[in-house]
Amino acid sequence: MAVSIFVKSARRTCALVFVLAGCASGTRVTHENLNGVLWIQTSAEYYAACTNTYAAARGQLDRALADPAWTAPLEQTGGAATLPPAVVLDVDETVLDNSAFQANLTATNGNWSREAWNAWCREERAGVVPGAVDFCNYAVEKGVTLLFITNRDAQVAEATMHNFAKVGLPFDPARVQVIGKTAESDKAARRKALCEKYRIVLLVGDQLGDFLSVPKETPAADRILLAKREAERWGRQWIALPNPTYGDWEHILTDSKASDEEKLKEKFGLLKR
Ligand SMILES: [Mg+2]
Repeated sequence: MAVSIFVKSARRTCALVFVLAGCASGTRVTHENLNGVLWIQTSAEYYAACTNTYAAARGQLDRALADPAWTAPLEQTGGAATLPPAVVLDVDETVLDNSAFQANLTATNGNWSREAWNAWCREERAGVVPGAVDFCNYAVEKGVTLLFITNRDAQVAEATMHNFAKVGLPFDPARVQVIGKTAESDKAARRKALCEKYRIVLLVGDQLGDFLSVPKETPAADRILLAKREAERWGRQWIALPNPTYGDWEHILTDSKASDEEKLKEKFGLLKR
């Protein structure tokens, strides 16, 4: 009897291991984005990291407003002391949480497409990044304009504002602007244009391109050098949120034309052991 139970239990265990780990080949069956999406959706650590970041940003905003010479963008080169203060923020994974969209791609082995993304934006179902509501409302109370530079299409700007309203972010057009994607995804030109009208005191984002111009296909090591070159700005004028699920950091690791199998092989080859 005891042996029979043991055998059944062992069979079940083997079946489970086979499904999870692919017993026959030794290859584990999983999805590259599974842990990243679950970290955002289930972990206390993600909540803590974002709340921590936005609480620190609030302190930096107070310092910035008290110092008329304080500016954040590399593009703001002239005197800006007399201009009204503004904060420039990214939208996705900076204030809006689109992990449900990423979760769907992960669960279905789907690929990102502009059509699917725009449809998601129009659903106005994105959640909010922890800490973002308090920070944004605090900034508006202090008389700061919120300028959202996003690579969402201009056609979903209105839906984006509706989504802001649903999650408690400020959405009064007199104090909040959403500046969508132009011909180029690089945000430097849009930042520069806003520098003519505002003293931009903080940049807030989840991608390196939210802070400085990054040429396309810049290798990972050079991206780190670009970030290190501005070491004094991080945590002061530049506020970075975590996003382990997507971004140029991941795109540039592999040849975009390669097959999924080849990309996976390239990624394993990059592991430092
Ligand atoms: Mg983003």
